[in-house]
Amino acid sequence: MTTQTSATAQTSSTAQHSTTTQTPDSRALHVLEFPGGYTRSTGPVIGRFLTGLRDGRLLGVHTEDGRVLVPPTEYDPQTAAALGGADADWVEVGPAGTVTTWTWVTDPRPDHPLDRPFAWALIKPDGADTALLHAVDAGSKAAMATGMRVHPTWRDDRVGSIKDIACFAPGEGPADVPAPAPAPDGAELEPVSMITVPSRLEYRLRPGTVWNHFIDGMAAGQIRGTRCTTCGKVYVPPRGACPADGLPATEWVDLPDTGVLTTFAVNNVPAAGAPEVPFISGYVLLDGADIAMLVLVSDVPWQEVRLGMRVKAVWVPEAERTRSVKNLKWFAPTGEPDVPFERYEEYV
Ligand SMILES: [Zn+2]
Repeated sequence: MTTQTSATAQTSSTAQHSTTTQTPDSRALHVLEFPGGYTRSTGPVIGRFLTGLRDGRLLGVHTEDGRVLVPPTEYDPQTAAALGGADADWVEVGPAGTVTTWTWVTDPRPDHPLDRPFAWALIKPDGADTALLHAVDAGSKAAMATGMRVHPTWRDDRVGSIKDIACFAPGEGPADVPAPAPAPDGAELEPVSMITVPSRLEYRLRPGTVWNHFIDGMAAGQIRGTRCTTCGKVYVPPRGACPADGLPATEWVDLPDTGVLTTFAVNNVPAAGAPEVPFISGYVLLDGADIAMLVLVSDVPWQEVRLGMRVKAVWVPEAERTRSVKNLKWFAPTGEPDVPFERYEEYV
């Protein structure tokens, strides 16, 4: 999963999307996510582990040399031998265990398993040779210790997820585990084979000197690049250092808002912040630049978009501009003759 992490993130590929909001103090909030979560198959080994969690049991798998791995893996991390096949030797461990290491979380985040301070800990269940990561609700940092005994607190509404264990708590705990909730139609529950996991990365970025100057240019409807003072290459969006030779690229260059489309994609998957599908994202080599810039292309039927097309930036009206790359709405054809491939092939 990749994305533009800069404020030029106007476009996105298939499932993920990236949005950028410029805050007044120039810190930009970036969000990268698969909306609704990321659905994947578990495979037979993790599927069996998750099915065990739904049943209120911690399952590990034996390696050839007799170690017990929890959570189980499809391959022995030491010998690379396949594990968990039809003749695999599964073993129930714990559920109590011993903390092997831990760190204290003073300020839980919204998606953390507990809404009060807690410990992330590696817990080695009794009978296992490896530890699993989970939260320990110890009440206070002073109550945490390496070597302390903990037990899982199971949820009643277990579905086959690591979250079926709400957290671990100090002590040996009760032996009984409530039965899993039956399937809605009363049928026997199928083994867990698919999971949907949340996938959202949120972070704030404070632009440095170079990026601030670029954004100031955007606010004025001006695209600014930097030139490497050694090799002379012009980068846009600007770089503080030349990626080719690692030397400072400190000379500012005001670039025209015209260029040539060097490659493009027709996007048929809707993405937050992007135009209606199908929309075009592409790379435009601005006149005078040495690197192509990722942009949207519009004001043209998607069937007519082609490599070598001359394009020009379309800006939001001056009165509506903010310190944002969103001032540059997209690029549109100029109507000039196409540029021969030889003239831009090294930038494709
Ligand atoms: Zn250079």
